[in-house]
Amino acid sequence: MNHKESHSITNRILMVDRSAVSRELLARMMRTGIKNAEVLTCKTGAEALALIHESHFDLIATALMLPDMDGLDLCQQIRQFKSHRYTPVVVISGDADTRLLKEGYAAGVTDYFDKSQGYPAFSKFISEFDQRNQWLVGHLLYVEDSKTAAALTIPVLEKNGLQVTHVTSAEEAYNLLNGMRQGSDNNFDLVVSDFYLEFDMTGGDLLHAIRARMHYSRQELPVLMITGSDDTDTQVELFHAGANDFIAKPIVDEIMMARIRSLLLIKHQYDTLQTQAKDMEKISVTDTLTGVFNRRFLMDNGEELRQDAQNQPMWVTIIDIDHFKQINDTQGHLIGDHVLVGLGKLFKNLFPEATPIRFGGEEFVLLFPKYEPKEALARLERLRAMVEGLNPFKIPITISIGAIDASNHPQKSLNELIKLADLALYGAKENGRNRIYIALDDEHIIPIEEAAPLIIDAPQIPLRQIKGV
Ligand code: GH3
Ligand code: MG
Ligand code: MG
Ligand code: MG
Repeated sequence: MNHKESHSITNRILMVDRSAVSRELLARMMRTGIKNAEVLTCKTGAEALALIHESHFDLIATALMLPDMDGLDLCQQIRQFKSHRYTPVVVISGDADTRLLKEGYAAGVTDYFDKSQGYPAFSKFISEFDQRNQWLVGHLLYVEDSKTAAALTIPVLEKNGLQVTHVTSAEEAYNLLNGMRQGSDNNFDLVVSDFYLEFDMTGGDLLHAIRARMHYSRQELPVLMITGSDDTDTQVELFHAGANDFIAKPIVDEIMMARIRSLLLIKHQYDTLQTQAKDMEKISVTDTLTGVFNRRFLMDNGEELRQDAQNQPMWVTIIDIDHFKQINDTQGHLIGDHVLVGLGKLFKNLFPEATPIRFGGEEFVLLFPKYEPKEALARLERLRAMVEGLNPFKIPITISIGAIDASNHPQKSLNELIKLADLALYGAKENGRNRIYIALDDEHIIPIEEAAPLIIDAPQIPLRQIKGV
């Protein structure tokens, strides 16, 4: 949901305080703490009520003690205006008054601020208050066959910042949600559905399909059902079928919005957890130094990778930096690290289709997909030659490579293939390093030159510009 902007809903603000100095100070803080805030100030309760009578405010803040009445009385009177029945009213008091605790709720006070905490705290309070009362963010799928009901409800939803897709049948809703399951662009956060619908599917059928056929959990896709007011049996049934909540017709807007708000909170928390889980998963299989996969990834997914490749050629290769210990010893560990990072980048750039894994300290496993022997060998030779020509930090670096064509060994596990590739690597090291050896089977290891006939008419591989090495 990161693409959705949140909006500030609070911008016309009335500030009531007997002291001109306090008024101006607090008003200034509101102007800086709330986006697009337009702050009016006045001195008495009567002045405030006159202003509220004339126009609408999104937030009213009042001192507890006013020259003509107290903040609680003012709040009570504000609530008499239909236009301001639910407008947030914040009472700013000098001390914690027990009267506020006992009578605040009945008077309709939304929140308090204790002035003894100081002005900086007020600034924080205001911006947090604004956050808590932000517009709702979310995309609703609204299923309602009655034109009249939809015409009343949709403007309320949209006024609260929601994106609404309205359909008139459960069948249409089913198709949209099923499409979302299959990966369509639709991204619904919540379904609000009438229970009684024309056509074959009822709202109950839709709910059942959402939970039992498409397997959306209550957290992943909350469902708010609209039922008749006396329909307690249906309501109980709907909870069993996986509804998160219901509202009864005729709909009271404030109740509907309160339910939607708490269901969207569930959905947003679900999304956040999902994102975090994905990030964690990615971190847990990534090598922190080089950014390629780590050994754990290979252990967790290796056999699967091998399985995927059963029906197509795959090459298993091990790449080891020659005399890396010397590089560390002469250039320092930090330069050694840079070389490893550079090599990781090189793998990623040169073989975007391959899976590079940091297997050990300066040893990488590179799983090559889908290459016929000619191309695989040509690519490996290109890699070897490229590293030889790089000279990062003016240091000559070479690598030795051991490789095996997995498609010749359908019965061998990835682990066994890596062992054979490692045997070939050993051959490359023994025979002078900076070269490639191929394992044919458990007994036969040959230098790439002997496999040369295979690569003579290999296709030319275009080289990309490699950065950062
Ligand atoms: P060979 O050609 O036989 O492979 O010789 P080598 O020196 O590369 O091999 P050896 O296994 O003797 O040494 C590997 C070195 O790699 C030892 C270790 O200091 C270094 N190394 C391992 N991991 C890291 C790392 O993360 N950073 C740095 N800078 N060096 C590392
Ligand atoms: Mg209906
Ligand atoms: Mg080495
Ligand atoms: Mg090594």
